[in-house]
Amino acid sequence: MSRPYRIALIPGDGIGKEVAPEGLRAVRRAAERFGLALEFTEIGWASCDYYRQHGTMMPDDWKQQLAGMDAIYFGAVGWPATVPDNVSLWGSLLKFRREFDQYVNLRPVRLFDGVPCPLAGRKPGDLDYLIVRENTEGEYTNLGGTMFAGTEREIVIQESVFSRHGTDRVLKFAFELAASRARRHLTVATKSNGVAISMPWWDSRADEMAKAYPQVAVDKQHIDILSARFVLQPQRFDVVVASNLFGDILSDLGPATAGTIGLAPSANLNPERRFPSLFEPVHGSAPDIYGRNVANPIAMIWSGALMLDFLTGGQGAGRAAHDAIVRAIETVLREGPRTPDLGGSASTTELGEAVAALI
Ligand code: ATP
Ligand code: MG
Repeated sequence: MSRPYRIALIPGDGIGKEVAPEGLRAVRRAAERFGLALEFTEIGWASCDYYRQHGTMMPDDWKQQLAGMDAIYFGAVGWPATVPDNVSLWGSLLKFRREFDQYVNLRPVRLFDGVPCPLAGRKPGDLDYLIVRENTEGEYTNLGGTMFAGTEREIVIQESVFSRHGTDRVLKFAFELAASRARRHLTVATKSNGVAISMPWWDSRADEMAKAYPQVAVDKQHIDILSARFVLQPQRFDVVVASNLFGDILSDLGPATAGTIGLAPSANLNPERRFPSLFEPVHGSAPDIYGRNVANPIAMIWSGALMLDFLTGGQGAGRAAHDAIVRAIETVLREGPRTPDLGGSASTTELGEAVAALI
């Protein structure tokens, strides 16, 4: 790599503005230690503060400004007291997803030592898997309509769209990911016993893709029992791939079973790198705790680790930086300091400094 990786840092709203500096601190520290050259551009738009001044979430040339970036490191967006959530979300994050073709939503789920688990009797090794959600098509469309509206005969139709291109590319990503892991196990979420057209076809695409990955063990599971197993038998899972709707549900359920929302990271990926990928905590802007410096910064920091790993294709300095950040997170969760959501009284800054010092 002859030039530095270019990263747009967008803190956004609420606690996004509090956790972003801690994410930056950890990422910079790890990059320094492993010799990764990074160039950050801090961006104030894609926020409700910007909206209040300009009546829009982003400047007209947002796409040109971001297109040359390798990654977007994002805090959180939304300030419902002044800007409706659909305006702030559709005006920023969802535009990135669509325009930058971030068709993979990746969420690691892992139970750490020292974090209370809502599932009874679970120990850290029991929850350690990755959810791959299709992020651009499937059940989330605006195709359909209403007939005989407002009458007794009212009929509503909502279409799903599964393209071969869109399905195969997310399946391929999931198979590659599973093949790169020690367990080489892939769960394919389906509902081919009830959703009679799209889901049997989705299964057939998975069967087709599986032929190219004989080393990966494939387990097709209906979404209902799969959800139950997230709770009852989480140790079954390694990589899980799901359509947009099923993945949306699983990717909230999974992290919720692993403790506080303040820990869960996510990546919105354009794996071919034609466009920047986006890395952000799963949590939102949390207006209820903003301004007190008590937000847990670990989800943001862990998202930064995913970013470094992705930038270098899961190898070399980026992988080493990722691993060092995750090890530092493990230590802090085990030994403290702890923010209030983890039962402690440490501040966002103290936690961020503790992680950075351990990297
Ligand atoms: P969305 O982003 O989907 O609109 P939301 O705004 O409803 O979600 P969040 O902002 O994620 O929800 O907050 C949900 C709850 O979790 C709030 O009570 C918030 O205080 C808490 N929370 C969220 N993030 C953190 C964090 N990093 N540390 C501590 N608590 C958090
Ligand atoms: Mg919100």
